[in-house]
Amino acid sequence: MFCILGGTFDPVHFGHLRPALEVQQALGIERVHLLPCRVPPHRGAPVASPEQRLALLRVAVADEAALAIDERELQREGPSYMVDTLEGLRRERGEQPLCLALGMDAFAGLESWHRWQDIPDLCHLVIMQRPGSAWPRQGVIAGWVEQRRVDEPQVLRSRPAGCIIAVPVTQLAVSSTQIRALLAAGRSPRYLLPDAVLDRIRQENWYAS
Ligand code: ATP
Repeated sequence: MFCILGGTFDPVHFGHLRPALEVQQALGIERVHLLPCRVPPHRGAPVASPEQRLALLRVAVADEAALAIDERELQREGPSYMVDTLEGLRRERGEQPLCLALGMDAFAGLESWHRWQDIPDLCHLVIMQRPGSAWPRQGVIAGWVEQRRVDEPQVLRSRPAGCIIAVPVTQLAVSSTQIRALLAAGRSPRYLLPDAVLDRIRQENWYAS
């Protein structure tokens, strides 16, 4: 199984890293691939450049074999549509099961994604609970959960795509927005992200106002 966690990672923090590791352990896979986008289609431009965000991700996963970085969206011009990324992975990996891990907030907002209806045909969705967000209760996405939800990770191995699974993860109310705001205000975001990532941000004076 091949599992990605897409995001802006502006900057990467423990709310990405710890749930990603827990997904890797829960699914019993070799690693989770953190996949930074170049141009997020559904939000404003990131504060840090793609190169800066990638540099911080590299620092964050340097000593963790269970987490890797997939740079394909950084190498592609234009908006980083997840559906394009998944189609590329599907071409590369044939019928191998593909998993897209995403926080509950991202899952609840899936209907705003480009060609969102095609996504469950391309991958399994691995949902990580996040403080402040809940399962969608109505609409197409809620219907998907009813039809596609499975409880056992082994089921994901039996088909290439199409299932939805919730993986329990440690609840960490950390966001990149909060970290950027602290840094811009000259306050410390320590213990919300790895020290090595924060050291690099401080050395380079990134995210200062
Ligand atoms: P921002 O505050 O800039 O919007 P963010 O902290 O939400 O950023 P992203 O890079 O947008 O981080 O998130 C990438 C993915 O990681 C998304 O699927 C998101 O739901 C998930 N994620 C981010 N933070 C957490 C968290 N604290 N717990 C669980 N999932 C998270």
